[in-house]
Amino acid sequence: MTQKILLLPGDGIGPEIVAQAEKVLRALVAGGDLALQWSSAPIGGAALDACGSPLPDETLRLARAADAVLLGAVGGPKWDGADRVLRPEKGLLRLRAELGLFANLRPALLYPQLAHASTLLPEVIAGLDLLFVRELTGGIYFGEPRGIRRRDDGEREGYNTLVYRESEIRRIARVAFEAARRRQRRVCSVDKANVLEATVLWREVVGEIGGDYPDVALTHMYVDNAAMQLVRAPKQFDVIVTTNMFGDILSDLAAMATGSIGMLPSAALNGSGFGMYEPIHGSAPDIAGQDVANPLATILSVAMLARYSLARDDLARRIEAAIGAVLNAGYRTGDIASPGTTVLGTGAMGDAVVAALADG
Ligand code: NAD
Repeated sequence: MTQKILLLPGDGIGPEIVAQAEKVLRALVAGGDLALQWSSAPIGGAALDACGSPLPDETLRLARAADAVLLGAVGGPKWDGADRVLRPEKGLLRLRAELGLFANLRPALLYPQLAHASTLLPEVIAGLDLLFVRELTGGIYFGEPRGIRRRDDGEREGYNTLVYRESEIRRIARVAFEAARRRQRRVCSVDKANVLEATVLWREVVGEIGGDYPDVALTHMYVDNAAMQLVRAPKQFDVIVTTNMFGDILSDLAAMATGSIGMLPSAALNGSGFGMYEPIHGSAPDIAGQDVANPLATILSVAMLARYSLARDDLARRIEAAIGAVLNAGYRTGDIASPGTTVLGTGAMGDAVVAALADG
């Protein structure tokens, strides 16, 4: 059966990196490994410019009709002054919410070849392999009421609401425990239960769900300590489950332990296994259009797409191995370069991965 993929290149480096992912899809289809169709649609600032909305109805319709979605990134200074409800990021947040993509899986895996690209000591990060399970459709990014208002004394104040329902905590906790069963069977739940009531409930409910997984060791940690531990001794973690905002911040922090934000893919899944896949980095407007962006996080997102949406773990492993082979051959983009390596542009790195796939 031919499966349908929707590509959402987005803004900044998005189109450049998604073009490299497309080369990989094309190679897999040409090699007879997959029966796949794909199409593209605008999202974010590009959609705002073209259609007046950061998530056009047609893009949402195509996403619903697809078997999986691959996104580049959205946003950029061009749209920073846009009305808050029209900002590019709003398009992405709404798409995640519309598709019910509540579970964000963000692996932080260190390729041994890149141990020296990290600012952390090689012995601290060698062998790092942790998985963030971030709640993606709730918490303070979505809570109401929210806004900027004028107080009675005339001063303006900004306000947001951190709110979690038990059902939202239960379902993300289950994703984390299930993921841990396929790994080292350890879950660390990160919260701020010493200050925030919403995360007092978070801790309680994660603990209840943990009771259904006696084979998985559950620990709890405050987010400030978790930030410190991720820099001090990141290998102590296997699966970290946390709220939307804490996961957003901590996974970027862990990204740097792996050398570059340009290496990390992610999956956002709903309750029936439908997924949207994207690199964890943003649209990098500072390097857009220069053929220097690292496309490997996006190509690794294709590997996650194959694993979770196409049930093709074999292809996922082939893509990951091809990237390993490219790194072994000494090829790097600028963000992960070190002395003695060969720096490639975005397009040449995509070509190198395709060549390694053909060899593998
Ligand atoms: P960013 O991730 O875009 O960039 C941070 C730094 O990392 C920059 O120096 C950038 O050049 C570098 N970088 C990022 N991806 C890279 C890659 N593939 N290769 C090499 N270097 C890379 O974060 P930012 O600068 O804070 O945000 C830029 C824009 O992206 C903003 O508009 C922000 O809202 C948006 N954003 C979007 C998403 C998303 O679409 N999921 C996520 C985060 C930020």
